[in-house]
Amino acid sequence: MRSPAKLALLLCIFFASRGAPAQTPAAPIKLMVDASESPRQIWHARLVIPVKIGPLTLYYPEWIPGEHMPDGPIVNLAGLKIFAGGKPLAWRRDLVNMFAFHLEVPEGVDTIEVQLDYLLAGVSSKYSSGASATAQLALLSWNQVLLYPQSKPINELTYEASLHLPEGWQFATALPVARRSGSSVEFAPVALNTLVDSPVLAGAYFRVIPLTRDAAPRHEIDLAADSEAALAMGTEEIEHYRQLVAETGALFGSRHYRDYHFLVSLSDDLTHFGLEHHESSDDRVPERTFLDEGLRLYEADLLPHEFVHSWNGKYRRPADLATPDYQQPMKDDLLWVYEGLTQYLGDILTARSGLFTPEQFRESTAYIAATLDYRAGREWRSLQDTADSAPLLYAAPDEWTAWRRSIDFYDEGALLWLEADTTIRQQTRGKRTLNDFCRSFYGGPGGEPALKTYTFDELVGALNDVAHFDWKGFFTERLNSHAPHAPLGGIEQGGWRLTYSDEPNLSQTASEQAHRNLDLSFSLGLVLDEDGTVRDVIPGMAAAKAGLGPGMKIAAVSDRQWSVDLMREAIRGAKPSARPLQLLVANGEYYKTYSLDYRGGIRYPHLERDSSHSDLLSEIIKPLASRGK
Ligand SMILES: [Zn+2]
Repeated sequence: MRSPAKLALLLCIFFASRGAPAQTPAAPIKLMVDASESPRQIWHARLVIPVKIGPLTLYYPEWIPGEHMPDGPIVNLAGLKIFAGGKPLAWRRDLVNMFAFHLEVPEGVDTIEVQLDYLLAGVSSKYSSGASATAQLALLSWNQVLLYPQSKPINELTYEASLHLPEGWQFATALPVARRSGSSVEFAPVALNTLVDSPVLAGAYFRVIPLTRDAAPRHEIDLAADSEAALAMGTEEIEHYRQLVAETGALFGSRHYRDYHFLVSLSDDLTHFGLEHHESSDDRVPERTFLDEGLRLYEADLLPHEFVHSWNGKYRRPADLATPDYQQPMKDDLLWVYEGLTQYLGDILTARSGLFTPEQFRESTAYIAATLDYRAGREWRSLQDTADSAPLLYAAPDEWTAWRRSIDFYDEGALLWLEADTTIRQQTRGKRTLNDFCRSFYGGPGGEPALKTYTFDELVGALNDVAHFDWKGFFTERLNSHAPHAPLGGIEQGGWRLTYSDEPNLSQTASEQAHRNLDLSFSLGLVLDEDGTVRDVIPGMAAAKAGLGPGMKIAAVSDRQWSVDLMREAIRGAKPSARPLQLLVANGEYYKTYSLDYRGGIRYPHLERDSSHSDLLSEIIKPLASRGK
């Protein structure tokens, strides 16, 4: 449940202590990480921590910024040993908080040494605690290889880190380098929050692509791949990313970082996702993303999305997500802004920079809108509850997604922000747009990374400064709605309508290729793996009515052995005159034939122009910055 809007206007401004002197003269914590055994899936770390006599609690980071949940990979921490003056010190884990280690510092001891290993193999987690290293590359997130004392907020703890890499590997990071010698790197001392916000990408096959030529701040794409061939990003693609940098400048007006690194890892053996940081992003995509048009299209909005987070999420952050350390729980109720608006801005920047053609943007919007329109679970779970329960939904299985709902605050949040953008344009007769909001809300002096928190009421106030409207009512109604359909008002006000035809949707085709699945949500109400395994059924639709459920596996379609093409053709032929579709289905060790009463043919979503409204959607995705800057 979302708490009622807060009356107090809380404007907290924290400045990351990057570059600023530490508030106490305490010596920095030294962290030495040996990643030379990355290919065999183990990292070793050693910390030297200044201490005082008496009880001491050390923490392993639990709530990881940007992941919005307590998923610090504590299960992969091993080999923990603590020494004082060369002698072992006993530690005991807290019986309630598995991330806390208690010990007693003896008299005469002013530093302790902590040794630990991080185990990479066999991880089943998602996001940054997922698969992070291969034979040829690694992505190191510092929170995985350190402990920190309870003594102070994390922006007041200084860490001096060093890293040893496999022989011959190159690396990139937003973390300032103090010196380098062969495979060893020493970094400048920084606050703990900056360290954890500055992962390192390293690998044997490496390429640095500068995106800004002379002008500061510097922007670059750093690629590490499992093969030399995968590094071949084309010149046209590079120009689109240069345009992306120019478009963010035109949209936001200032930048809150010293320079920016897209840390892109190209591998089929890593967990695939993106994670935002203030001065970089951790972008993990399939190895052939820049070689294969389907994969390129599927991943096209990833870098724009993570880049937008430098403004929306890192610089401006909901107050409830700006916690003083990694143990205090985060409250996710405003993720429809943090993630939803980022999704919207990321999508339109993908189009403005040329990474999407206008048609690809519309196809992507249609597929998103249609998927949400078939979320049967909106009957019991509001959009607000998808944000409130984000820590549960991020970890949810694929089965029963339509009924459980998913992290819908991303895509449905984007639909709300499209509706907000078109509403501003209508209310002001085209004089103001959401671009004006972005300039005022995310602007500021820029330069050093800063954090400026906000509340729901402050967001509403900032929107009212752009266009006077009942924004509180607008969002509250949509966030708490149990209407059976998705909020499509933005598409309609934008001059388009959601329709279906038997022509494949470009975005859906790319998604099916990436996920190796078959999405029949809009016909049978069924999502299948390539091998016929049922992943999801949509309550109320033909497959669910016939009795199919997740985990079953289709063995034959009308008496013939299952294949994706056969299934597609069978549905294409499911017209009014046709006989019911017969599916032979395995459920564990049992087989049964199901008869599906469906005669609507194959259906793919598209946007169709509605000439009774002006074409705001096309207006929104026009570039703001001049080309070739
Ligand atoms: Zn995001």
